[in-house]
Amino acid sequence: MEYAGAKVEVAARKIYIIEDEQDISELIRFNLSLEGFNVETFGTGEAGLKAIEEAQPDLLILDIMLPGMSGLEICRRLKESSKTKEIPVIMVSARGEESDVVKGLELGADDYVTKPFSPKVLHARVEAVLRRGTDAKSATDSVKIDKLEINVGRVEVRVEGQLIALTQSEFRILHFLAQRPGWVYTRVQIVEAIRGENYAVTDRTIDFQMVGLRKKMGSMGHLIETVRGVGYRFKDIQ
Ligand code: CA
Repeated sequence: MEYAGAKVEVAARKIYIIEDEQDISELIRFNLSLEGFNVETFGTGEAGLKAIEEAQPDLLILDIMLPGMSGLEICRRLKESSKTKEIPVIMVSARGEESDVVKGLELGADDYVTKPFSPKVLHARVEAVLRRGTDAKSATDSVKIDKLEINVGRVEVRVEGQLIALTQSEFRILHFLAQRPGWVYTRVQIVEAIRGENYAVTDRTIDFQMVGLRKKMGSMGHLIETVRGVGYRFKDIQ
């Protein structure tokens, strides 16, 4: 970290990578090391899990397709244990593995990147996921992003200062997504998060709700992004 031209020393954050393709894990390791991370790589889930038992990383980059134990199985085990469930996980998937990405997110993974990805993109995701860990605890009563304002106490949403009329489900969906910009949610996760006793929302109706919600949001409708084959996210505009 540079500050007024002087190097400020901060404790290096530790990242583990579980990835069987050595050129990819080496590329990630090299680039994240340049960013000041302390990076260790493992070629199998068994080796990675053993290392995590011994010393927990600040974040895990996890390939889905691995020989032996799969990335999804590793994710499931980590999220099941109270000792390791808080470790943020970024999955690495190949194109066409969206259904595995959906499963991974539902198991508790935080984000994913699709191969091939640039080191710059991965670094941005790593920083965003690490930031979320500290942001998530400070949920506020009102959210203001660009020209969109969500007032939770009043259950009101304004776009460019004008009140817009949302159904209760639409309001819940919007508030849920806006709390964590950039975070991808699957349809099932959205349904589970917003479903109250009186809401007949299923994952099939989510797409329909999103169309209506975006339309009502007018010029701010683009803040809700479709993540093809996976789900939805609120645009991260910082
Ligand atoms: Ca692989």
